[in-house]
Amino acid sequence: MLYQRHSNVNVFLISINTTVYVFVFVSLMCLSESLSGARVLVTGASTGIGEQMAYHYARFGAQIVITARRQKVLQQVAEKCLSLGAQKALYIAADMASESDPDKVVDFAIEKLGGLDYLVLNHIGPSPFSMWEGDVDHTRWLMKVNFFSYIQMAWRGLASLEQSKGSLVIVSSLLGKMSSPFVAPYTSTKFALNGFFGAFQHELAMKKSNVSVSICTLGLIDTDSAMEKVREVTSVPAYPATDAALNIIITGATRQSELFYPWFTYIVSLTKDWFPSFTNYAIQKSYSYSP
Ligand code: NAP
Repeated sequence: MLYQRHSNVNVFLISINTTVYVFVFVSLMCLSESLSGARVLVTGASTGIGEQMAYHYARFGAQIVITARRQKVLQQVAEKCLSLGAQKALYIAADMASESDPDKVVDFAIEKLGGLDYLVLNHIGPSPFSMWEGDVDHTRWLMKVNFFSYIQMAWRGLASLEQSKGSLVIVSSLLGKMSSPFVAPYTSTKFALNGFFGAFQHELAMKKSNVSVSICTLGLIDTDSAMEKVREVTSVPAYPATDAALNIIITGATRQSELFYPWFTYIVSLTKDWFPSFTNYAIQKSYSYSP
């Protein structure tokens, strides 16, 4: 009797597993079909999550333009994209702190690809992980890179995205919903992105625009730049960049308005205001710091 019950449970679990695998397989096939030949611009693609996104788009057979500041590294990423199956992989070096480079990059992608289906804004300028000591100039510069260039590029690419019923994908952070110590300038830029593109989502919906806007809220991801900063000071788990990248791509391709990755970032952003004292205590205790 007991054996019978166990074997029924096993059959049930195996059929759930099989259903999940079939579902994932079919979804990836559909995704592969919709992304094959898609015209994509990914920013901040020389390293980290952006680089991983470029490789995923390449495996799906997309036509890609990648950008960041370091030309040599971009060239290597573009070559790898071609070897992975990208229909096209072009690169353009640009500094998003400049007034003109954000427009120049969008124009380049539209010209070389003949339009845009996905505009994926992901780059961030380097920023220290430390108590804020009054460096207003750095915060102003970071706002240019992490925020103003995003809205400039979104506007520049909008007409082309309208034509293609395309998608605008904004890579943001849990730190755009919840403040945390040591990253005051960075968290400000992410709050600005969430505020701006949240409003923009409303406006496009009200105008019955063809363009979808996806805002991606990420937790800690294991990129070199992030791990260098936090490895010694927190035990918060870091999630794989390649998985984060794939989730961002799926969110854009399925035109969802939000992504929370990993899943618990959704719970955190939902519950953080329920018990503010507890939330603040937990945030401060998650870092090892002694004054
Ligand atoms: P990353 O590894 O530091 O990569 C940043 C990218 O931006 C690089 O390609 C860099 O290339 C480029 N970049 C830097 N300054 C630039 C400038 N002035 N102009 C143009 N490009 C510039 O970043 P990541 O960790 O992959 O993060 C990617 C995205 O995920 C960001 O939006 C970040 O906020 C978000 N996110 C990350 C985490 C995490 O834990 N990693 C968590 C939450 C959210 P060059 O140096 O060649 O210019």
